[in-house]
Amino acid sequence: MISQTRDIVQKSLDALLEDEHFLPELQGESREQAFTSLTAILSTPNHVHKSYLRVPLENGRVDRVPAFRVQHNNALGPYKGGIRFHESVNEDEVVNLASLMTLKNSLHDVPFGGGKGGIILNPRDYTDKELNLIAKKYVQYFSDVIGPDKDIPAPDMGSGEREMDWMMAEYKSIHPGNPYRGSFTGKSVVNGGSLGRREATGKGVFFTFRYMMHDFIKNQKNLLTNTDNIFARTAQKYEGKPLTIAVQGFGNVGSVAALEAYQSTHLQNKVVAVSDRNVTLYNSDGLDIPALIEFTMKNKGDLPKSGDQLQEIDVKAEISDREDVLYLDVDVLILAALEDQIHKDNVEKIKAGILVEGANAPVTTEADQYLSDKGVIIVPDILANAGGVIVSYFEWLQGRETQFYSEEEVFRLLYEKMQSTLDTVLPQFFGDPFPLRQNCYIHSVTKLSTVLYRQGKLY
Ligand code: GLU
Repeated sequence: MISQTRDIVQKSLDALLEDEHFLPELQGESREQAFTSLTAILSTPNHVHKSYLRVPLENGRVDRVPAFRVQHNNALGPYKGGIRFHESVNEDEVVNLASLMTLKNSLHDVPFGGGKGGIILNPRDYTDKELNLIAKKYVQYFSDVIGPDKDIPAPDMGSGEREMDWMMAEYKSIHPGNPYRGSFTGKSVVNGGSLGRREATGKGVFFTFRYMMHDFIKNQKNLLTNTDNIFARTAQKYEGKPLTIAVQGFGNVGSVAALEAYQSTHLQNKVVAVSDRNVTLYNSDGLDIPALIEFTMKNKGDLPKSGDQLQEIDVKAEISDREDVLYLDVDVLILAALEDQIHKDNVEKIKAGILVEGANAPVTTEADQYLSDKGVIIVPDILANAGGVIVSYFEWLQGRETQFYSEEEVFRLLYEKMQSTLDTVLPQFFGDPFPLRQNCYIHSVTKLSTVLYRQGKLY
């Protein structure tokens, strides 16, 4: 995983050196020196904090649970990023995800740096009382390095509002009298969370796809006439047509993105497949997404896995293996499960022409290269899934002002921010021969380089 981080950073840096926007005020040796310093800064995290949380369990056993907080870079503001509760999370992965947060925040002009946390456990193996203790211990162990102006954690895979409420409460009792609402984001609304935060990532994922493939392209048809550009040719193929969509993952991101697609009836797109950790469900006429969401809410988040369960809710679908969702003959594939889902061993089976990354790093570097060479448009994670951290920023602001926005206002501000980023990167994307990921990295790293240079850090 660490090599992926290096690949990501290296790729964007390589492209940057050719770019006229990279520190135009510098020439010759000082430009090269600045480039060397920038490479060193971005390819390593500022801090890796690590602990083993001692957790006495209800059955008398005592577990030592490994936990991390990685602080990648804070040139733009306090470190920011989720805490992942997962049995396969490891230090390299957290470092990789923290560096993606630095790039994501820079890309969308969110005044935060990049961080990420991880706790190695399967939450299903612990009782609620034990999870509460684990969350509190995490805050106790890292209480000196986190805080509203230092490092602001949020939910990630395996964690949500409940864990953030617990953690904020622990932070508050460790630092009495200090502002605490901004110490964690993704809290429940009654505990100072923002309306719309829960749906923000999924809504932002669908918005990114919709704006790019419908609104932007419709208004900028001239950009698609650039037939030298392989991606413009792909976009032209899908322009103005009703599209079929498959969604991998039916958690907080996938289910919301699927529902948004289902409800955008005026676009005439169809969600023909969804999947989770057990199954893929497929119906060429489109799936009843609201009925499936209702089912998951009553069944611990799982989709129906048998004909009987489908019949119970009157949904018609074919059931097959969970990974089948990836290989369907659809126009759009939204990846909203885990990282590394498309890799060198399965990439040749992908048929979709547009991939949207709701998860972080779901496509490996080799697979990305293979698909991009074929003209597949990959809408990268740092562009598509930033809705969560953008609304986290609004939550942090609202907590400071103790003044709360309506849900309508939150989504208006979210779409405004995402649209402004899209309007910056898309014209270049359809103009240059670079994949969209590279375009986003160049934009993001260019901004970071200017900030770091002006802070005197690139000597
Ligand atoms: N975990 C989310 C992400 O990967 C949200 C982070 C946040 O809200 O700080 O972007």
